[in-house]
Amino acid sequence: MSYLIKEMFGPTIQGEGAHAGSACVFLRFAACNLACTWCDTDFRPEGAAKLSADDIVAKLIELDIHRTRMVVVTGGEPALQWDAPLADAIKAAGFRAHMESNGTRVLKAPVDWLTISPKPQFHEGNDTLVDVPASECKVVVDDTVDDDALAAYEARYDCADMFLQPCADDRYEQHLQRTIDMVGRHPRWRLGVQLHKIIDVP
Ligand code: SF4
Repeated sequence: MSYLIKEMFGPTIQGEGAHAGSACVFLRFAACNLACTWCDTDFRPEGAAKLSADDIVAKLIELDIHRTRMVVVTGGEPALQWDAPLADAIKAAGFRAHMESNGTRVLKAPVDWLTISPKPQFHEGNDTLVDVPASECKVVVDDTVDDDALAAYEARYDCADMFLQPCADDRYEQHLQRTIDMVGRHPRWRLGVQLHKIIDVP
């Protein structure tokens, strides 16, 4: 069994969501089932490596020089490849797995923290949001995200940590102002920023 891994790096800082500011290491899978126009991540298979669960864990331990034992599992879409053998190996090494998913796939194995970042405006074919036990919901605010969308996410994801994050495209300032307005009108949601970009870490 092998996994297509785009990159692993650390030590670094989680930049988004309820754990923003926490020291961690990153595991980035290649491939995604969506193609969001404003995606800021290179998840293409070019340059990715096929690694076993043991290879991945060994690299995570090597990277985790501060022994945070927190790994952010992302992509691409990590739920496409996440499975029990890898989840078990990472857990056995003492890591807490914090996954960031677009919410279109049921997980084949549990994680310790699940961030759902829904992007239904980019769904195609059979893509749809599925019922998953989200730990937090993080919505990237572009022009398509409105009050009705927030109400739908509140109904679907019953979690304490709900973030609105302005889309970091070439209209960031407009998205930021709109996000601030929405947070004011919807106090269940908090403004989220990409801390890693502000402090300039990967
Ligand atoms: S779901 Fe995430 S990784 Fe996939 S294309 Fe959209 S923003 Fe990029």
